[in-house]
This record gives sequence, structure tokens and C-alpha cells, in this order.
Amino acid sequence: MTTLITTIPELRAARAELTGTVALVPTMGALHDGHLSLIRLARQHADHIIVSVFVNPLQFGPNEDFDRYPRDLAADLAAVDGLADIVFAPSTAEMYPLPDPFQVDAGPIATVLEGAIRPGHFNGVATVVLKLLTITAPDIAVFGQKDAQQLTVIRRLVVDFNLPVAIIPAPIVREESGLARSSRNTYLSEQGRRDALALGHLLRDLQHHQMPAADLLTFLGALADTDSVQWDYAEALDPDTFQPIEHGFTGEALVVCAARVDGVRLLDNAFVNVSTPAEER
Ligand code: AMP
Repeated sequence: MTTLITTIPELRAARAELTGTVALVPTMGALHDGHLSLIRLARQHADHIIVSVFVNPLQFGPNEDFDRYPRDLAADLAAVDGLADIVFAPSTAEMYPLPDPFQVDAGPIATVLEGAIRPGHFNGVATVVLKLLTITAPDIAVFGQKDAQQLTVIRRLVVDFNLPVAIIPAPIVREESGLARSSRNTYLSEQGRRDALALGHLLRDLQHHQMPAADLLTFLGALADTDSVQWDYAEALDPDTFQPIEHGFTGEALVVCAARVDGVRLLDNAFVNVSTPAEER
């Protein structure tokens, strides 16, 4: 049985009753298989699961899709019934009772890649996650590798604010076609869905080839917009620092990409094995 809780005092009271370890899985709802895989992973690490469902206005820019973001609490409750102990679905007023709330400044990492395209986004994410962690006091919290930069921001949040929680990353869940599952996939037309495969295919092909950093950087630099896919970025990063890799880099690079397909922004990423150039072997 899953209990729906919508207020902070009730959540705190219910949390205090839980014995054993607690996992938090933060979401914005419109739950799909990707979210469910996070919940199943959480179950392997904790006795009780709290799933939060909250479309956080602070992380949306003025011209973004806050108003039309898919919301269906009844379907979300049905999807997690029996998997989660508690669904915490507060209203905006419950989370932000005062105007102009204090926000976390997530620092330089919040200003590159997604952060450059969505100014203020990661400050809003860090703020809501800090609040959710404070409210639910979990032992662990699970976040998807799908949002790689978000995961890095959250890891920094936990270190920099000394939060007593372990962050567990969960692998990307894809549709059979290779498209990474996302609540925003519901915005795609049939044609858009086909065009969107460009992201998944690009990453799949890169994962299967070992190549020197110089070749990878040249390849990513040469990606051009087509009629159906407009690339916002496709970059190879050192996964530990989130800094772009340089020509001599070897080891696992994280290739992150974002593109606009059918007017919908899609994100994807994969680890790619960057080898030593043949002449240096
Ligand atoms: P969202 O509801 O989009 O804010 O996502 C909630 C959590 O689910 C985040 O930690 C996401 O990274 C994660 N997530 C979303 N889509 C996927 C996916 N396809 N595979 C794995 N995790 C995902």
C-alpha cells in the first residue's frame, strides 16, 4: 500500500514512524520505466521508499514548459503502488509559501552546458533537492545518469552542505528503439520520435568504437544541424571534473549531448572509451 502525503508536517510525522533505512527518489511525475528503475534500485539499498512528485517552478525559465509539463498524479500513484511506501506530492504553496524564496547558488558547474542554455535551472534544482532532503531525511537518494550534469550538481550539493545522505546513480533506461526515456517524449510526434533517435544512435555508435581524444573531439565538432535535429551541444567531458577533455586524454570520457527535435529538447549521454592514438601505442 502506498500512502499519498501532500503536506510537510504529515510527511515528517510519517517519516518519523519509519524504522530501518529510507530512500528518496525525487521526480517531477509523469512516471515512466526510467523512474521505476530508480525506485527498484532504491529498494535494493533501503527498507522504505519515498517518491516525491513535484514540478518545481524554480527550475523552469520564463519561456519553458512549466505550464504544459505533463501532470497525472492518479497515474503516478497507480504506477508506484506497491513499489513505494510514500508518495510525497506537495503543492507549490506548500514548498514555497513565501515570495522570492532563498535559493542555492550551485556555482560554476551550473553555468555550463545545460546551465548555459537554461540560466538558473541548476540553482532551482539544487534548491528543491536540498529542501526535499531536509524534509524527508533519507539515508540514500537515487538520481538518474540520464541527467548527468544534474547528478554532478547534486553530488556537489551533498559534499558542500555536509548532507548526511548517500547519492546512488541509476543507469539510463531506453526505449527499445534506443531513445532515452523521458517525460518530455510525450511531446514528440511520430516523425519527431524517429528523428530523436539520432541522439541515441550517435552515442551507441561512439560506445562501440575506441578512438583517440583528438578524433572524438573532431567528430563531435563536426556534428551539423539537419532539418530535423538542431544540436545545442555535444561534448566530451572528464566525468570527474565535468571539464571538456583535452587532446591527450585517455580513459572513460562522458559524452553529453542535447538537441532540439520537433521543438522538444532532448538530453542523452554515454561513457566512451578514449584510447591512446595508434602511433603512441
Ligand atoms: P524527472 O522526473 O525528469 O525530474 O526525473 C526524475 C529522476 O529520474 C531524475 O533523477 C532523472 O535523472 C531520472 N530519470 C529520468 N529519465 C530517466 C531514464 N530514462 N533513465 C534513468 N533515469 C531517468
